[in-house]
Amino acid sequence: MDEKKLYYKEDSKNVHKYLTVTNIVVFFGVFSLFPSLINSFKFELSSFFAVLLIFLIWLFILFSAISLLKNAKKIREFYQSDKFWNIKNEIKGRADKCNELNDHIEELKTTFVSSGTKNLGKVEYKDSSNYNFKRKEWEKLKNTDEYVYQCSSTVCKNAQAQPFKYICKYFNIKPNEENLNRIEEVFNNFSAVEEGKKLLTAEEDEIMRKFVGKLPKFIDDKQYPRFKKRLGFKEINLSDVYYPRFKFLYVSAGGNSSIETNITLDLDNLSNFIEYLSEQIKFKKSIEGQRALMTPKLRAYIKERDNYTCQHCGISIKDEPHLLLEIDHIVPVSKGGMTCENNLQTLCWKCNRSKGSKISS
Ligand SMILES: [Zn+2]
Repeated sequence: MDEKKLYYKEDSKNVHKYLTVTNIVVFFGVFSLFPSLINSFKFELSSFFAVLLIFLIWLFILFSAISLLKNAKKIREFYQSDKFWNIKNEIKGRADKCNELNDHIEELKTTFVSSGTKNLGKVEYKDSSNYNFKRKEWEKLKNTDEYVYQCSSTVCKNAQAQPFKYICKYFNIKPNEENLNRIEEVFNNFSAVEEGKKLLTAEEDEIMRKFVGKLPKFIDDKQYPRFKKRLGFKEINLSDVYYPRFKFLYVSAGGNSSIETNITLDLDNLSNFIEYLSEQIKFKKSIEGQRALMTPKLRAYIKERDNYTCQHCGISIKDEPHLLLEIDHIVPVSKGGMTCENNLQTLCWKCNRSKGSKISS
């Protein structure tokens, strides 16, 4: 089995590392400590004790190195053992499912970028400072996914007071139905991301709980991430960095002073943004009154109404307690479907995903 060989190679690196350290410690002792220990005995008693102390410290380092070496060998042995491979085979099906959901969550995170909002255009970074004092500051910005607008200090301060108004104005998001739909889709998908992260963590914890107390002692907190990875779990990215960030940045001509206003479109802000946009839009008469807004409350209501059951395949949270349920537009927004109770349904993430791919292809 190739994977097994790969693990052996990987773990051997640690074994070799600690073996080298142990060898160095031994050589150091033999060639420098022992002669001086014997010599010191012939001369003064005080220097004998000094060298003895160094000898004891050396002994301590030697034993530590040996125990690290032993541990590294044990770990290598464990990942080669039948016990480990039996566990790995036993949970393979469930781990694969977890990874599939993990991939899906990562895909949902790109909604904002892929929803046509990329025409926001990153503003060119111009170093307007005379002496390039701020050069490092600019370099940092180039490596992020932020949308940055370089502006006057007044705009920067005003953006703080009225963030949504200024995002619309300076990042060219016009308050119209199309953009409201987009932001709603982003909110809907990001809500699923946050729910999915929790459900996936809970599912993996449940799978792993079976092995608590049955694992060798050296699978401690430090070893645990590697153990999970070796069992075949992809790492769950729990960070919030996928939220779109808008930055209003003012840097004075001399580069000595700068002000910035940062607005992160997290779930709270997205929800508020949806409300802001809907207030700004003058809806066509026919739509007005029928249209609802995608809110946490509406999402929760639809799931409850559908009895936490996928309306396509019939799976429910009774069957799978950690099932990720998503809210779907029955008639897609792209085909004129509206955000209203009648046009919303609960789908499991798998059905929703395959429906999405059918429509876009
Ligand atoms: Zn389903």
